[in-house]
Amino acid sequence: MQTLQIKTILATVLLISYQASLAQHVHTTKHQTRAIQFPDIPGYITLKCDFHIHSVFSDGSVWPDIRVQEALRDSLDAISLTEHLEYQPHKEDIPHPNRNRAYEIASDLVKEQPLMIVNGSEITRDMPPGHANAIFLQDANPLLVDDSLYALDSLAPFKAAKAQGAFVFWNHPNWWAQHKDGIAKLAPMHIELIEQGLLNGIEVVNDLTYSDEALQIALDNNLTIMGTSDIHGLVDWQYKVPEGGHRPITLVFAEERTPAGIKEGLFNRRTVAFFNDLLIGLDQYLVPLIKASLQVTNSEYNGDTSVATVEIKNTTGVEYLLENQSTYSLHAHSDVVTILPYQTTKLQVKTITRLSEFDLTFEVLNAVTAPKVHPQISFKITIP
Ligand code: ZN
Repeated sequence: MQTLQIKTILATVLLISYQASLAQHVHTTKHQTRAIQFPDIPGYITLKCDFHIHSVFSDGSVWPDIRVQEALRDSLDAISLTEHLEYQPHKEDIPHPNRNRAYEIASDLVKEQPLMIVNGSEITRDMPPGHANAIFLQDANPLLVDDSLYALDSLAPFKAAKAQGAFVFWNHPNWWAQHKDGIAKLAPMHIELIEQGLLNGIEVVNDLTYSDEALQIALDNNLTIMGTSDIHGLVDWQYKVPEGGHRPITLVFAEERTPAGIKEGLFNRRTVAFFNDLLIGLDQYLVPLIKASLQVTNSEYNGDTSVATVEIKNTTGVEYLLENQSTYSLHAHSDVVTILPYQTTKLQVKTITRLSEFDLTFEVLNAVTAPKVHPQISFKITIP
């Protein structure tokens, strides 16, 4: 009887502690804040942007004010409401003669807010060229060319965008409605657009998809790497924000926090796409971003051993997956280490002899600079 009672108490204690650890785990692996946070990198301000968004002014389900509210809650720096120029399923209810209307409404709402609204539109044609967003427009209306002109010159909408100095990127080149195999590939028209300077970027991330092939096209053709939500419904529902998810965005490394600063950063390919826990970008921006995100806050040897505890603080909502590349093995991890969002993770490093200085090098498995290529980061550890 007594043994049974002890067993019951023990089982209860174990259950409670298991539930507590489960709650702890759930708490620590989710974003502690909805606001998407990334540090600046040396020489540049990191700006969080979503340049592919829809409202009721094309085929989206919400008025532009909801888009503004979502962006403010996500702590974005800039958005563009890129309504389909040619596809207007709500036109019986919302005639929409002026294709700048969503931009105008959103712009009026952010006068006192830390959010930039960029005028943009989605050129919506069959493949090729498929869909493309033109942003930093002065006036979206001239991009809506009539069918007779389009039949004569299918580059006409892109030329109209370029005439305004717009930044133009290819949308969802991996879209399975347009490529059944989900593989992004260039058509001769795309090559012509790139050669004429009419296509400047490509979505490597769109909504719930990522494309290795689109990344390779970006690298081969010097196109800017873009990640966007292409949201039509609600950001909270589509990306499970209450459960800790986030919308895909493009981080732009800008010299100043202005629309002109963003535009300059985009044309000079200073971007990283952020999708779930994946970061996609050129090595020269990805490495400083990751290094700024992960800070070594303390390093010391344990007693008189040669096992050093190194504390790494993650200042972002990204769960980093690091693969140890140094010769030292770890005392509490295999070669793969998870660095939880907004947490400090302790690594125990077996340096064999006590060193006042050593390097810890990792491959960052949740980041890509090219298909199947992960960047490396190194921490210089000094122990007083
Ligand atoms: Zn779209």
